[in-house]
Amino acid sequence: MTQDAIRLTGLCKTYRGKRGQPEKQALKGIDLTVPRGSVFGLLGPNGAGKSTLINILAGLVLKTAGKVTIWGFDQDTNPRQSRASIGVMPQELNLDPFFSPRGALEVQAGLYGVPKAERRSDEILRMIGLEDKAEAYARTLSGGMRRRLLLGKALVHHPNILVLDEPTAGVDIELRQMLWANIRKLNEQGMTIILTTHYLEEAEEMCDEIAIINEGEVVVRDSTKNLLGRLDAKAMVVHPEAPVTVLPQGEGIEAELRGDGAVVLRYHTNATSAEQVLAAVRVAGITIRDVKTEEADLEDVFLALTKAR
Ligand code: ADP
Ligand code: MG
Repeated sequence: MTQDAIRLTGLCKTYRGKRGQPEKQALKGIDLTVPRGSVFGLLGPNGAGKSTLINILAGLVLKTAGKVTIWGFDQDTNPRQSRASIGVMPQELNLDPFFSPRGALEVQAGLYGVPKAERRSDEILRMIGLEDKAEAYARTLSGGMRRRLLLGKALVHHPNILVLDEPTAGVDIELRQMLWANIRKLNEQGMTIILTTHYLEEAEEMCDEIAIINEGEVVVRDSTKNLLGRLDAKAMVVHPEAPVTVLPQGEGIEAELRGDGAVVLRYHTNATSAEQVLAAVRVAGITIRDVKTEEADLEDVFLALTKAR
């Protein structure tokens, strides 16, 4: 149990409606654990509640109910230690325009009570490629540089957990690659990484485990490997000449008789071929009048899991 980087139990957030707006239930009882040392992807469509969840972890948004444990520390009873365990790179660019990158890192380190001798602003500036701009005003930095500075700020207190909210949304390829290289390196050094993204390919490539949330609820939580396994799920729909009495059987084949008399055969393309499925159909003595296959791609499955219910 102490092996979890993050443990959320029954986490709820209701935003009070402003100016006559109805209140909004952004998180509806999230139960989620993130293992230490992992790269964990939090996926979901716009408005799913990803930033709300992350901002609660960061202490920027107050939860309505539930329990948040960060690196074994309860956020309510151990606020200081839980806060010290986590660094958050927010989605919004909220930099003070009057600070230089070095100044911003030093102020942030001060906020987290990092003693002067333990600060490593130079190392961080080098890592985020802002050594040349160390003394420039933040307002003179490009959007990409500001984003890198936000990453740097999240790291000043050597957190065990780094959380990144849409780190690569709207950034160019070069910056994206730089961010990913940094994130990989930090993870190799032992840091637990949690990130949100709506680039499915990115999540596929980077994350060990993925949770998809939709409308404030976790709809799926699995290893990326298993999730991709689900994604190669295929269904063959066989319309028989005569009513079916015996369902086809075979390893890796799940057969089901549909209300309209068709037989639906589910299988995984990485384990079972269409030919094996058809052979099973023939062995069951079924004469095929018509056959169709349905394949789910990543986008389909994501949409199926996150469509409004
Ligand atoms: P995501 O990051 O997944 O796009 P958010 O956590 O930003 O989702 O938002 C979840 C829901 O909560 C959305 O419907 C959003 O409009 C609403 N919401 C977010 N912040 C506030 C707020 N400060 N006040 C009221 N509603 C909010
Ligand atoms: Mg968001």
